[in-house]
Amino acid sequence: MLRRSAVICGVAPFTFDGRYKDHATKAATSPMWFVDGQFREAKQSMDVLNPATGDVIGRVGKCGREEAEEAITVASKTFGKWSKSIARDRAVILRKWSELMIKYEKDLAALMTRENGKTLAESLGENTYSSRYVEWYANEAERVYGDIIPSPRHGVITTVQKKPIGVVGVILPWNFPSAMVTRACAGAIAAGCTVVVKPSELTPYSAFALCQLTQEAGLPPGVLNCLVGNAGEIGDAMMDSFAVRKFAFTGSTATGKMLMEKCCKTVKKMSMEMGGNAPFIVFDDAEIDKAVAGLMTAKFRNGGQVCVAANRILVQEAAYDEFVAKLVDKVKGLKIGDGLAAGTTLGPVINQQAVTRIEGLLDRTVKEGGKILCGGKRNALPVGDAAPSAKGNFLPATVVVNVTNDMEICQSEIFGPVVPIVKFKTEDEAIAIANNTRAGLASYFFTTNAKRQWRVADALQYGMTAINEGIMSTPVAPFGGVKESGMGRDGSKYGIESFLDIQYVLHGNN
Ligand code: ADP
Repeated sequence: MLRRSAVICGVAPFTFDGRYKDHATKAATSPMWFVDGQFREAKQSMDVLNPATGDVIGRVGKCGREEAEEAITVASKTFGKWSKSIARDRAVILRKWSELMIKYEKDLAALMTRENGKTLAESLGENTYSSRYVEWYANEAERVYGDIIPSPRHGVITTVQKKPIGVVGVILPWNFPSAMVTRACAGAIAAGCTVVVKPSELTPYSAFALCQLTQEAGLPPGVLNCLVGNAGEIGDAMMDSFAVRKFAFTGSTATGKMLMEKCCKTVKKMSMEMGGNAPFIVFDDAEIDKAVAGLMTAKFRNGGQVCVAANRILVQEAAYDEFVAKLVDKVKGLKIGDGLAAGTTLGPVINQQAVTRIEGLLDRTVKEGGKILCGGKRNALPVGDAAPSAKGNFLPATVVVNVTNDMEICQSEIFGPVVPIVKFKTEDEAIAIANNTRAGLASYFFTTNAKRQWRVADALQYGMTAINEGIMSTPVAPFGGVKESGMGRDGSKYGIESFLDIQYVLHGNN
């Protein structure tokens, strides 16, 4: 039996019944945005497409500056009360939100796959990962401690207190439609901040569904507000507003840099998680099967559309032939198709622009001397019964060799199911190649040599490094980059700090 979620006001566009259903279509009649605890009809609306079929799965509100300013005003008014709320009360609400995400995981996963394309298994995995950020920050809410510092002179007490920073503006990408929302917003809410979030126009439904669950969890209206539409206008409203004291961004380096400049106008605190160019190094003393398995995850999760995806695969001479042969074997075993279909292990890329962009990159790589061992452009997709929908945004999983680090494919973020392999001779050479980039988000290497593990990890100029593992994201560890990959960390004991100001208070007359 269908059960409508309890909401405290407004119309709930999503129906959660704990089973896989066509939820986005149910939402289609409601071109909504979410403000002050209510879903509202927007004046304009826009299509959301399924990347696997090209079909319109629904419409959402197309908001602009006016709605963004209203959301900021609501968040600003709500901040007064929310910032003074008891940390445990915030924790209880967040914990409930996290539990609801697990209760309705099948609904949320189906919705995510329909708007993003990733396989259902991946969507379920993301939903769990996403809910754990909420749970993590629920616990962090009660661990915001200040300091009492040994006084510099008699008669005074020197203290530090931490306070929620204010309204947080959040702009997010489409590749993790749920986890991006909770990673930024749960931290802010736990700290006592209020939020205006703009998810990607390409994947707004997961974010709106999460907003609906916050109402069921008991989050007061106005703490979390969400809208999509004209990204430039919404972004500018956030940038121009003095009330927005903190800006959290995940997306491309080009957009991030442009927004950083705009943040200067009102001196906002910033967390920026921008592009990566992750090296994945396989030394000749590595366990090759483990390295291949690690790469399959580090590269093909979400079709390679991940900021921490392995982008440049560096393989030492003696391990090269075995690694490449085993990898090609595994890559050929991937089953490409609609993420909702059973057995699919590689979904579509996000849109036709991505298909064309990656094909162009492959063309230029071949012109520069690269050799495609398997996959290639869309005309290399399976035919007949195994063929994915011709209207979907599919690209085959591709392995390219004869690649050097100076080629465009190694200097740009591929964001697709393409593995470029570079051969190297020495450890020093591998480290030099790995660090020869302005990005500094994730890095991976495989070796069984314990001394090399410490040495290479220390030499890598990255915010995150995984040794003999192909996946490292978890709420318990600090997620973020160095160099042009950005600043600030999500998760861990460091994450909540981004949403706090510190105030030094000197108590005299003692
Ligand atoms: P991607 O190429 O992965 O979509 P972008 O950096 O373009 O990365 O997008 C990340 C987020 O930034 C999205 O929500 C997008 O709508 C938003 N965005 C893009 N351009 C602007 C802009 N001029 N102002 C504010 N937000 C923007």
